[in-house]
Amino acid sequence: MSAATEVQFLRNIQRLLDEGDFVATYKFALLQALADLSVEGAPDSEGSLVVPLDRFAEKFIEYYWPQVVPFRPTSGSDGILQQNTGQQAAILKELLQLRVTFGGKIQLARQDVRLWQQTVRKVASVVREMPLWKLQVVAGKPEEFLYRQADFKNGAITLVPGVSSHFRSFHGLVLRLVRGRWLERVRTVKSNQSIIGAEADLEGFLFGTGRKALDGFRDVLREVDGLNCFYCDRQINAVPEVDHFISWSRYPIDLGHNFVLAHPACNNGKRDFLADPRHLQRWSDRNRQAGTMLASGFDAAALPHDLIRSFAIARWAYAQGEETGAHTWMAGDQFLKLDERWRTVLQ
Ligand SMILES: [Zn+2]
Repeated sequence: MSAATEVQFLRNIQRLLDEGDFVATYKFALLQALADLSVEGAPDSEGSLVVPLDRFAEKFIEYYWPQVVPFRPTSGSDGILQQNTGQQAAILKELLQLRVTFGGKIQLARQDVRLWQQTVRKVASVVREMPLWKLQVVAGKPEEFLYRQADFKNGAITLVPGVSSHFRSFHGLVLRLVRGRWLERVRTVKSNQSIIGAEADLEGFLFGTGRKALDGFRDVLREVDGLNCFYCDRQINAVPEVDHFISWSRYPIDLGHNFVLAHPACNNGKRDFLADPRHLQRWSDRNRQAGTMLASGFDAAALPHDLIRSFAIARWAYAQGEETGAHTWMAGDQFLKLDERWRTVLQ
């Protein structure tokens, strides 16, 4: 991929965000879904990626799921943030209903296959009707640099060759741009302003993870992995920390198999670095050997997990790391430049 086409891609994304028309937040969700699905999917030999609308719908459900609860109790309002000027975005009403039915647990909703698929279909039709063909209209003109309406077939779009690779290269950058604008959009809806107030952590609410939510993962991991620290293999006497093996800052998602238990000191030492390929080897072994057992534990506790996606995300993170000359964390304050050893682990 040439530097010139990469720059052009980023310019196009920036123009789209600067000049596109954003009435609802759907277009931000769609952009984020394009970036995420590029990481989680595998492009064909020509570099194009086919993505069914159902996959977008599932991403929309994931993104909006935490956003449909009240931001905070507010007099004279339900406290739920509007994602649209005028009427509340339709997807949110749909999800609010689903949240109530399943006590806020998305994993439980997924397990009700019939209802889940019904919701996915409804959301997919909103995606098709609302942001899909509007996203790339800038200043009234269509500029189809991501996917083309003419290629739409069997309920799936095809990304223009090279696009998914650009999204993989610039995932973090695109995500920050998109979320920054999404946040601004929600903040500027007039009826939201009295709900949000001055000092609230809106970003944490919209895109963050509740620390409390990690407690459930801790219990399942303890059962399967035992009481030793994943990284140094010594016993943990304090409360073990639940570490995102591929860090949250690299790829903000909570999927069960990505977690390991660690000493607070080991977790702090690793911070947002990639772990050394030896750690990666053990993470991979743990998931290949105990993946099914972990999955049933996560299911029983209604916690999200997806082994295939977890591996796809790890593969992407290490490929990106190698390309950008990342350092990996071994132990304490020891770091090493990432070499190609990770490839044999994640084949
Ligand atoms: Zn440790």
